[in-house]
Amino acid sequence: MTLEKLFHPIGDVGAAVAFYFTNAICRIGLFAIFIIWVVASVMNIQIPAMVEKATLAFIDLTSRETLHQVKTVRDTYTETIAMGRPGQSPRTAFRGGEPTHVPLPIEFMKSVTAQMSGQDVKIRVASPFPWPAGMNEPMDDFLKDAWKKFRSDPEAVISRREGSGTEAIYHVAIADRMTSNQCVQCHNEHRDSPIRNWSLGDVRGILSVTTKVGPSLVSAQERTRIIQTWLWATCVVTTILMVLAMEAVHQRELVKKKAHDDLVFLAHHDAMTGVLNREAFHRRLKMMVSETKNPIQAVLFVDLDRFKTINDDYGHDVGDAMIKHLARTLVYHVGDHGFVGRIGGDEFMIALQSPRDQALAKKILESLARPSRFHAWTLSTSASIGIAKASNPRQSSDEWIRQADVAVYKAKTDGRSRYVVYDKSLDEAAIEAKRVEAVLRDAIETETLDVHFQPIWNIQNGSLVGFEALARLKDPLGGMISPAIFIPIAEQNRQIHQVGEIIMRRSCAIAATWENPVRISVNISPAQMTAKRRMIDFVSEALQSSGLAPERLEIEITEGILLDQNEDVMKDLSEIQKKGTRIVIDDFGAGYSGISYFWKFPFDKIKLDRSLVQGEEIMLGAKTATLKTIMELARQFSMEVVGEGVETAEDLEFLKTLGCHQAQGYLLGRPMPAEH
Ligand code: C2E
Ligand code: CA
Ligand code: CA
Repeated sequence: MTLEKLFHPIGDVGAAVAFYFTNAICRIGLFAIFIIWVVASVMNIQIPAMVEKATLAFIDLTSRETLHQVKTVRDTYTETIAMGRPGQSPRTAFRGGEPTHVPLPIEFMKSVTAQMSGQDVKIRVASPFPWPAGMNEPMDDFLKDAWKKFRSDPEAVISRREGSGTEAIYHVAIADRMTSNQCVQCHNEHRDSPIRNWSLGDVRGILSVTTKVGPSLVSAQERTRIIQTWLWATCVVTTILMVLAMEAVHQRELVKKKAHDDLVFLAHHDAMTGVLNREAFHRRLKMMVSETKNPIQAVLFVDLDRFKTINDDYGHDVGDAMIKHLARTLVYHVGDHGFVGRIGGDEFMIALQSPRDQALAKKILESLARPSRFHAWTLSTSASIGIAKASNPRQSSDEWIRQADVAVYKAKTDGRSRYVVYDKSLDEAAIEAKRVEAVLRDAIETETLDVHFQPIWNIQNGSLVGFEALARLKDPLGGMISPAIFIPIAEQNRQIHQVGEIIMRRSCAIAATWENPVRISVNISPAQMTAKRRMIDFVSEALQSSGLAPERLEIEITEGILLDQNEDVMKDLSEIQKKGTRIVIDDFGAGYSGISYFWKFPFDKIKLDRSLVQGEEIMLGAKTATLKTIMELARQFSMEVVGEGVETAEDLEFLKTLGCHQAQGYLLGRPMPAEH
């Protein structure tokens, strides 16, 4: 465990403190630490008084011991030395008045106690009587009090402390009593004895020990100081150990909590991208809809364009990386103005609590357009975005989602890589799109999808070059549904694969029956290009089954196919071209297509978009210059040029003067059924 972890960084302190106060084990730990410190503090305050008390008790005890020994010495001396053996006369010669060779007991005691006494301990034998041995020296207050006490209680042990702290002195005294008959006799008979009626046990003096408390106290205090130091050290160590233990518990709890949080997170978030999962997003949106403080202002539906194609062409790893990239982009741009959820494979939703929905959509599209690295590939992506705005902020979450869904559908059918803001009219369009989808599905199943043919003429010599095959869908409500409507819908819902193959097969089959072996131009949508169903396969199949010569077939593709620069698609185009089929770039001059396409693929033919052919007068000058450049490049790259949408004689004249080779348009022939 590191120190930083132990002593939490500032930001964590609050959480750690909260944790310690709420977790049971840590609460017990904190309580224990508190008790330890209280006990230690109380002990620390009490210790000096205790030490003093113990010192005095010790002095008291040793003093009593000393007095007992002194008394024993005196008695032994009196009985065995001073008095001689039983039956003998005392060795002390008092009777004659002069001491002989053996000192009187009192003299002996005086010299013994003097020798036993030291600087700090004074042992005394005192008496108020002048005899024997001149003991009438003045007595201090303690001895006077003791004398008084012994008179009434000869058995008493008297102790007293005078002064305080290291300056104190401690007295202990016992009575000095008549202990042998010889003593009594001697005292009663001696001429100097002031009292002559002594009897055994009478108090004749005081034995006392006076001790200076200071030295003992100081040494005890010194020893105690060591004990105190140890006490504090123990407190500190115990506290540290307890904090460490608590921290270990804390860490374990954190790990447990993190595991729990992870589980909770996983339950609410998409594992791959980390944004809210579908259910959590719906729940949160539902909750926020009733919020008045910071209401939802827009819901954005973001759908990655051509995601299935990317998965098929580049593999799932690249697909996954792209999804993550999209999620990161959304989260980054949304910031804390809302929340993001992944509600399907490549579908995300944003609930926005700010009014800048369109600015956000623009930023997202710009970010995606910037090429990014996805494993071995550097690709730019795009998305279609549907925006539901807060027309009625209290509308249900389901309504928010429905509107965003309708808007994104529109963004897709309008050509993707754009955003569309929901309005009521889209509902009708969405309903109509659903109807068209059903009609188309039916036409595919019943094989009633039709093809019309529009002639393409050589405008230099007036000969027929061929026909463009254009899909036709019969509307059960009457009339025809324009491919401009149903093709984007088919591209959107993947019906385009079947539509494309049907049209290709039919066109080839019909063209093969023509007496005049003119060419047939078939449109192929970029959405048809997936790794699963290779273009080369269904083109070869159609040629084979119809028996049409490959040279009679032309394939019209738009710039969308070249945007991704997919290797497989390029390879297929080359293969097809090698067999003699011609590759035409359609709608040239519309959208982004520019001169760079001349280098991207060796096209056989360029089809000028209607917008270049039909002109408003003002634009004519600039347009002529552009067209002249295109014509010149086409000449250098040996490409044919066809102008489409020729509606007037002026359009045709204009193309002719430019040197355009071929033309197509209502003026020259409308799309018509095969039999026409
Ligand atoms: P496109 O490939 O540019 O086809 C030319 C469109 O212009 C056709 O519309 C045609 O009827 C129309 N057109 C021809 N001459 C004129 C003219 O003088 N003036 C005007 N205003 N329009 C003219 P259509 O048939 O409605 O097809 C629309 C689009 O649908 C086509 O545009 C093409 O992109 C798509 N499409 C049609 N059939 C197929 C198909 O079989 N496969 C695919 N992938 N797309 C198809
Ligand atoms: Ca075309
Ligand atoms: Ca066209």
